[in-house]
Amino acid sequence: MPRYAYVNGRYLPHAQAAVHIEDRGYQFADGVYEVVPVFKGALVDEGPHLDRLERSLRELRIDMPVARATLKLISRELMRRNDLTQGMLYLQVTRGVAPRDHKFPAQATPALVMTTRQTKPHSEALLNQGVKVIAVPDIRWERCDIKSISLLPNVLAKQQATEAGAYEAWQIDGEGYVTEGSSTNAWIVSAEGKVVTRDASHAILSGITRLSLLKLIREAGFEVEERAFTLEEAKTAREAFLTSSSSFVLPIVAIDETPVGNGHPGILSGKLRARYLDYMADLGADLGAGTGAGADLEGGTGAGAGIEGAA
Ligand code: PLP
Repeated sequence: MPRYAYVNGRYLPHAQAAVHIEDRGYQFADGVYEVVPVFKGALVDEGPHLDRLERSLRELRIDMPVARATLKLISRELMRRNDLTQGMLYLQVTRGVAPRDHKFPAQATPALVMTTRQTKPHSEALLNQGVKVIAVPDIRWERCDIKSISLLPNVLAKQQATEAGAYEAWQIDGEGYVTEGSSTNAWIVSAEGKVVTRDASHAILSGITRLSLLKLIREAGFEVEERAFTLEEAKTAREAFLTSSSSFVLPIVAIDETPVGNGHPGILSGKLRARYLDYMADLGADLGAGTGAGADLEGGTGAGAGIEGAA
C-alpha cells in the first residue's frame, strides 16, 4: 500500500512529496512542527498539541496555514490513507516560499506538510533494562519554548549520546541545572521521594506528555515539584526518567555512567509509565478507536507498548 504525505493541499505518494527549494523552512529553519502520538488508532492529546502549534506560530508571527478544524480533517484523512494505528503524525508549518532574504517576505503563504509514521513498540528488553543518558552543555537559543524546526543543537546532542552508547543527552544550562533532553523532558524522583521536573519557561519545551503526566501524578496523589534540578542532584536521585510523545515514559538507569538508584528502572517510573499507557488507551477507547490493526497491542500496563524512535 503506498504511503501518503500531505503537502500544501495535496495528498502525494510519500516518495514524491517535496517542497520548493526556496521554502523558508529549508533555507532558514523558519517554521515550527508538532509530533502527535497515535495510539490504538487515536490521536493522543490532539487539542494540546494543536494549542502548542498555534502558540509556536503566534510567537513567530506565522499564520495558521488552514483552520484548526481543517487541520483535524487532514490529519484523519492522512491517517486513513496510511492505515495508521500506532505511531505518529508529523505536522510542519513554515513561513512559506519566497526569494531568499532574511526579513519576512511581504507576502508569503504558510506552507503545511504532514506525514505519518507507523512505529514499532519499544522492546521489552529496553524497558526492563532502562536507558542511559549523558550530560552535554545546553547551547541552544533562549526561546526553547517554541517548537521550532531549528534543531541543530538537539541533533548534535543526540548524535553525541548515540556515539556514547546512550539513548538521550540531558542538556545542562550555565548554572549546572538540567534543562531537558534533545527531544524529551527530564524527570527525577528526588532523594526525598518527590517527583521533580523543570518548570515551564523559555528554557524548555513544555512537552505535552509532561503536561499530561503532571496531571496524572497529581490525580494519583503523588508529590510533584516543578523546579530546576542540578546534574548532581539527578545523579544522586532515587529514580530518573524521560518523557516524550514517542518514548512516553522511559526509565533512566545511568547518567554519565553513574547508576541512578540501584541501577535498575525505578518502581515509581514503571508505575507512571503504566499509568500513562492506560491514559492513552482510555483516550482511544473514548473515541471508539482501537478497532484497527493496533488494537491487539498489549494494554496500558503491557511493558511492550511504546514507540522506538525520536520526536
Ligand atoms: N523537549 C524537546 C526539546 C522536544 O523536542 C520534545 C519533543 O519533541 C519534548 C521535550 C517532549 O515533548 P512532547 O512530550 O510534546 O513530545
